[in-house]
Amino acid sequence: MKNEKFDAIVIGAGVGGPTAGAILAKKEGMKVLVLEKASRVGGRDISFNFSEEDPETYKRLIANAAHTWYVKSEPDLTELFKQGYLKGYSFEAGIHTLQITERGRTNVCLTYLGKPLTLFPAVSAGWWHGGELYHFENGSERGGNFPWMNERDKEECGKINRLMVKISADEAHSYDHISLKEWMEVRTDNQNTKDFHYVNGTMNCTINDPANISAGDCILMNRAVARAGKRFSYGGCSTPGLPGFVQIPLKLCEVIEEHGGKVVTRATVKEVLIENRKVKGVLVEIEGAEEKIECPIVINSGMVNEMFNYIPENHFPYTFVKRVKGFWRAGIGAVYFGLGHKIVKEHLTFVPKIAGKEDGFDSDVRMGFWDSSGMDPGRAPEGKQLLDAYVSLVDIEAHNLELVNLAYEKMKKFMEDNYQGFKQALEWTLYTVSDSLVPVAQAPYQVGDARPKAKSPFIEGLYMASDSSECSMAANDAAVHAGIIAASRISGKDYVSEILPEYLRD
Ligand SMILES: Cc1cc2nc3c(=O)[nH]c(=O)nc-3n(C[C@H](O)[C@H](O)[C@H](O)COP(=O)(O)OP(=O)(O)OC[C@H]3O[C@@H](n4cnc5c(N)ncnc54)[C@H](O)[C@@H]3O)c2cc1C
Repeated sequence: MKNEKFDAIVIGAGVGGPTAGAILAKKEGMKVLVLEKASRVGGRDISFNFSEEDPETYKRLIANAAHTWYVKSEPDLTELFKQGYLKGYSFEAGIHTLQITERGRTNVCLTYLGKPLTLFPAVSAGWWHGGELYHFENGSERGGNFPWMNERDKEECGKINRLMVKISADEAHSYDHISLKEWMEVRTDNQNTKDFHYVNGTMNCTINDPANISAGDCILMNRAVARAGKRFSYGGCSTPGLPGFVQIPLKLCEVIEEHGGKVVTRATVKEVLIENRKVKGVLVEIEGAEEKIECPIVINSGMVNEMFNYIPENHFPYTFVKRVKGFWRAGIGAVYFGLGHKIVKEHLTFVPKIAGKEDGFDSDVRMGFWDSSGMDPGRAPEGKQLLDAYVSLVDIEAHNLELVNLAYEKMKKFMEDNYQGFKQALEWTLYTVSDSLVPVAQAPYQVGDARPKAKSPFIEGLYMASDSSECSMAANDAAVHAGIIAASRISGKDYVSEILPEYLRD
């Protein structure tokens, strides 16, 4: 990199930073350098084609790039690879789907950049209620058509749904710092309506307990899905085709490189260099050698909870450092079930409770699972079914191996007890856990104005662009939002309005 000049440096080849970098490169003509500590592009969007992997690389990459750890498998990991069980399968560091499919921020922004995604939308869904599975397809739940509800329940549920959809973004944000439970309790006493929205809130925010979910952020997500014309059984989520989710960061990095920029892997930023409250560049270690790169703009897309590992905290006010370090994370227990033939008919399925406080968890534990290969046949060998199942776990639970194993047991048992032929068809399983699906959980006091701003008010030239900095809603779409906001702050242009439709802007 010696003697090369860049207009902006992005820390991390995940989604947020490269979104900002791609917009600045393509639209502002800026020369952008992306520095990624892992050996591959992807961050938490890393994907694996198992025909080309080995167990050690897989384990190392999911831990390094995606905050995800291998826990166990059946048979054990070496055998899974050696015996060829995983041949022809492709999947992620943990389950991944894209909310709102082609009308969500990720695809809208990539389309704007000339790189639309290939997406496989869900067009059917299952919802377990009272021990029975209810099947929906192509939006058949439209208008609150939930068969387990009586007329009064439907009317009440419809009222709450309409309230969420019609609300203005400003009003939604006014509920950022109160919980979904509090918001709901004063609006309805109808149990079926509350139960429905609490499960929905978990799936939106990866948090089981509605008392921990921000009402504002959850409402913004419901509002966006409905305004995009989607339902949970119709395009409300999708999986990107091969090579999988990693195509998102790969496409963003492609744009940067096509416009004169550079993406370097195995490049760890050791320190952001700051003098007199101004960014001067970075100190980076590439292949064991340290190098200083001067640059007036640095965009950090590493998680904000970890930013002080390489941005010295003495440059920030104590209250800011304390707040950022105190953010708690939302994680998941993710299980892949490899089935010899198709057992589950629905593309995505919601189970309101598989465990609870009585088992030592924080709250009722809900499960979701995806028929990935049903949506995208390229994900599994012909005739086989790949199911991606998950439960939400708060970070403390994700680090408690006993609880994690209990969750896995309950997940598998639910499938065996409720899906005929599941036990016989199961060929292999792979169990992973992550403490950072959402590194700053979408909880009251952790969303909206609580997050670090895209443009640092403390250090000139320092910007943040990740799903843990200024943005709304969850995960990939949040990271893209953060990237667009950062590009707007750097350029002075309103890319948020230019790129995103009204329902995705706030
Ligand atoms: C198990 C799991 C399941 C998920 N499921 C979904 C899902 O279904 N749908 C969805 O939309 N999203 C999902 N997500 C979330 C999604 O992957 C993230 O929202 C998205 O990847 C965030 O992008 P980002 O740029 O903010 O951060 P990241 O992807 O984490 O990128 C940050 C990058 O910065 C790099 N980095 C950090 N520090 C340094 C340094 N000092 N020097 C150089 N590089 C550095 C990291 O290695 C990383 O590559 C999931 C995440 C996980 C972990």
